[in-house]
Amino acid sequence: MTNERTRVAIVTGANRGLGLETSRQLLSQGLKVALSGRDKDALDRAAATLGSHGDRVMTVRMDVVDVGSIKGAQAAVKRVFGHVDVLVNNAAVLIAENDAVLSIPSETYRRTFDTNVFGVIEVCRVFAPAMADAGYGRIVNVSSGAGQLATMSGYAPAYSMSKTALNAFTRILAHTYQADGVLVNAVDPGWVRTDMGGHSAPRSLREGADTIVWLATLPDDGPNGGFFHDRHSIAW
Ligand code: NAP
Repeated sequence: MTNERTRVAIVTGANRGLGLETSRQLLSQGLKVALSGRDKDALDRAAATLGSHGDRVMTVRMDVVDVGSIKGAQAAVKRVFGHVDVLVNNAAVLIAENDAVLSIPSETYRRTFDTNVFGVIEVCRVFAPAMADAGYGRIVNVSSGAGQLATMSGYAPAYSMSKTALNAFTRILAHTYQADGVLVNAVDPGWVRTDMGGHSAPRSLREGADTIVWLATLPDDGPNGGFFHDRHSIAW
């Protein structure tokens, strides 16, 4: 990091899985971290597993499909930490994973896009302008290899299409803020052992979160508008 002050990160869906592990790694790199999620008690239990980080850690309720809760979370983090430098859009849902594309009702597509795409847009709408005003920001959109057009199959249609849309949003947001010191990138963490990934996944939480944290702490001359896996650029 090229910071003179302690950077502040907020992570969505931080009560478990990759969101919690990302928070753990950001704390170990010295950042202040706001763990956000839908369930404050679950967040507090998760934060308790991170060890003692004094005043560098806080929890805040934020449901990414509820704009009021996003604005409330921003106000709460501002009160405690003063500002936000790093946003990790990690929260997502995987619905109708094994259903065929035309058997999935529109409502299921909508529910998936509400969280995985529109939720990210709304969170960015609240947090990104202040980063641009401050001239520093890192936004990491946790995407998936399932969203890669280059290798797309019939797997998890709603989820895969939502991640492709998230990738497009990443490119557009990166272009929007390219002169403002805000670097916006997407990441495929690989198939990781979480509630979503299941027990058979080959990758550990530590491996899955590594590139998320790398993108969250990029130097000022780091990449912008890219899609990464294991710290390497991958096809869209
Ligand atoms: P996970 O264990 O299922 O965790 C998902 C997190 O998202 C949970 O904390 C969940 O909170 C939260 N969430 C869902 N809807 C939310 C909402 N409306 N508002 C706030 N939080 C919400 O999944 P994971 O494996 O850690 O996945 C993390 C990210 O990695 C996702 O973007 C996923 O698409 C991506 N990814 C994962 C894998 C993998 O193999 N695991 C592979 C590729 C990409 P609740 O506890 O309240 O439900």
